[in-house]
Amino acid sequence: MKLLEGKVILVTGASKGIGNGIARRCAENGAQVAFTYLSSVEKGLALEKELTDAYKIKAKGYRSDASGTNAAEELINQVVTDFGSLDALVNNAGITQDNLIMRMTEEMWDKVMEVNLKSCFNTVKASIRTFMKQRSGSIINMTSVVGIRGNAGQANYAASKAGIIGFTKSVAQELGSRNIRCNAIAPGFIVTEMTQALNDETVKTWIEGIPLKRSGTTTDVADCVVFLASDMSSYITGQVIQVNGGMLM
Ligand code: NAP
Repeated sequence: MKLLEGKVILVTGASKGIGNGIARRCAENGAQVAFTYLSSVEKGLALEKELTDAYKIKAKGYRSDASGTNAAEELINQVVTDFGSLDALVNNAGITQDNLIMRMTEEMWDKVMEVNLKSCFNTVKASIRTFMKQRSGSIINMTSVVGIRGNAGQANYAASKAGIIGFTKSVAQELGSRNIRCNAIAPGFIVTEMTQALNDETVKTWIEGIPLKRSGTTTDVADCVVFLASDMSSYITGQVIQVNGGMLM
């Protein structure tokens, strides 16, 4: 039996990058996959077809803005209606709007907070009733090594990711007695469109500081999601698992 057989998983921001890798890996492991996208509509539609055709599972994409509270409520209701349940929620959607704090505008701060941090509150709040009724659920929030150690030029992003860690630990404490688990994954340097914006020199410096001497892949992160969504992690909650090749903080 596959690790996620019989489970319904919702992944936010799966049109590209890590979310895309998570959706594929979950499907490969037998899950039924609901996922969201926002601006990459064609990629979202293509993923739905690919998951259904390649893995013979039920898959459905929803165009939904993670930063919208009402949108999250509509999304969760629709997913539960379409799939009949929800077993794991992966809050992956995220953005960067980098600049030195001197040049960072209020809009850059607010936007990153809304898409990265408030989105987790939105979907978790909207899912709680379903998880409580089932007396089970696994919430997986995508933070970052930057949320642990900070990063010059990313004060908004680092604060949003540090906020996710506090949020994750609080939700784990609040909902543990209902058998609802909540963990965070902190990826290190993973090759995606988000990191393609970095110059060669920065990439070289990051990789030099990684004991495994390579950047991570979306599959490296997705495998950790599969574990946390599966029953193999049923006694793990409130944790931040770093998927970073041993990067020293
Ligand atoms: P990416 O390639 O830029 O993909 C971001 C995804 O988020 C896209 O599918 C995008 O969808 C979606 N998204 C953005 N804003 C959204 C919104 N308002 N509503 C719904 N979806 C939205 O980024 P990535 O590198 O895969 O990063 C994924 C997550 O991992 C992020 O939370 C990021 O902070 C975290 N992370 C990444 C790294 C890394 O090295 N790459 C390291 C640590 C943490 P559309 O294109 O359809 O809008």
